[in-house]
Amino acid sequence: MSEEILDPIVISEQQFDKAAAHIADLKTGLIDYLKQPNRTHIINFPVELDDGSVKTIQCFRVIHNRVFGPGKGGIRYHPDVTVDEVTSMAELMTWKCALVNLPYGGAKGGVICNPKELSSNELRHITRRFTSELASIIGPSTDIPAPDMYTDEQTMAWIFDTYDRLNPGKNNRPVVTGKPISLGGSLGRREATGKGCMFAAQRFLSKALIPEQQEIAGARVVIQGFGNVGAVAADEFFRQGATIIALSDSKGGIYSKVGLDPEQVAAFKAEHGTVVGMPDTLTISNEELLELDCDILIPSATAMQIHQHNAGNIKARLIVEAANNPTTPAADEILQKRGIYLIPDILANAGGVTVSYYEWVQNSANEQWELELVNQKMQKRIYEAVDAVFDYWQGCVVGENPVESKDEKTTIENAPDFRTVALIIAIKRVADATLMRGIWP
Ligand code: NAD
Repeated sequence: MSEEILDPIVISEQQFDKAAAHIADLKTGLIDYLKQPNRTHIINFPVELDDGSVKTIQCFRVIHNRVFGPGKGGIRYHPDVTVDEVTSMAELMTWKCALVNLPYGGAKGGVICNPKELSSNELRHITRRFTSELASIIGPSTDIPAPDMYTDEQTMAWIFDTYDRLNPGKNNRPVVTGKPISLGGSLGRREATGKGCMFAAQRFLSKALIPEQQEIAGARVVIQGFGNVGAVAADEFFRQGATIIALSDSKGGIYSKVGLDPEQVAAFKAEHGTVVGMPDTLTISNEELLELDCDILIPSATAMQIHQHNAGNIKARLIVEAANNPTTPAADEILQKRGIYLIPDILANAGGVTVSYYEWVQNSANEQWELELVNQKMQKRIYEAVDAVFDYWQGCVVGENPVESKDEKTTIENAPDFRTVALIIAIKRVADATLMRGIWP
């Protein structure tokens, strides 16, 4: 096998093409349109640091598609974030929103900076300046940011405040989601992505594709990344009766055969800044963690963690992609051949954008919903999306849905993997809506 190209744009394109091959009536010109971002904003501005020095910051906001509604997508602060990575994640948002039937298009933002080396004042300056540069682009009906890696409720509060000052006299709360509750954030938003992963896994397991693991209870679970998403996922799976045997963050991983208590690990991390060193655990690397013998593996950190060179060593029966793009196309093929199921990012982590949508609805109506209502609505939507993907996949297995295969037989081995099926459904929805609206002029 030749060396795979670890470029986010190439990966998005490969994933799209694999799905599009199953959609017989997709117009060629439309394919080009659906693959490209509508707009890409690249912004450079100076900020003054606490020591009086000046640093130039580069930021991106990419709007991939707005056929179904305003752009929607998080903003990532990371020293290595690139415009290509942001573009591929904006495209993922388009498919994610379409898959869970949200009235949004896809967008994403990135700021090249290292939040671990910046003070709160410096982060506030960067966020306010970035927001003011985006003032004519973002808006409650045009493009609505949210948190992503290394951005949080505080970041969203600054974005809201800046936008509100620039647009006085209006209800500006729906301009950004993931806000603190006191500023119009939704109950359950912080936990939504991790909880949504649990709902997706729960529903998927109930389909009995893994006969000996039809529920989360009893599963041995490994989670890479212990941030907003990974820590909540750990908690949710633990509460459902899973044994969390390993966890990690950017500094390394910890393993315990008898299982970790996520609450205790969170307390340790709050005190020590990392999970590494937690008493009664074995320290392991992030690479070793991915290859541990377990039932469910949940990548919840960065992209391209499961690739051509380690996919053959993965021992999990099910991968639940809490992170965006953690698995490469070459790895997808290896995993499928090895009979390892995977719930793709656009399904597994869609709980976050779903509750962001509920926050936007609540803000627009000046309401605050009960936590139980938020969770019930999100669970229903994730279950429905899992059912839609599973039913289409089953249609492929029994030969009701078209299968792009050299082999005449339609079997589980020939059916597209679950990422491809999820993309087929989402791409079809966006393509149909584009044509239904009519090409302008
Ligand atoms: P976060 O910043 O809260 O946490 C990231 C975690 O990953 C931290 O524990 C960090 O130490 C760890 N990490 C970073 N680099 C690592 C590496 N190389 N190896 C192992 N661990 C590493 O971010 P988050 O909001 O939890 O986002 C995590 C992932 O989930 C991202 O891929 C993000 O795009 C995706 N996601 C987040 C949301 C959301 O609502 N926050 C929604 C959908 C998808």
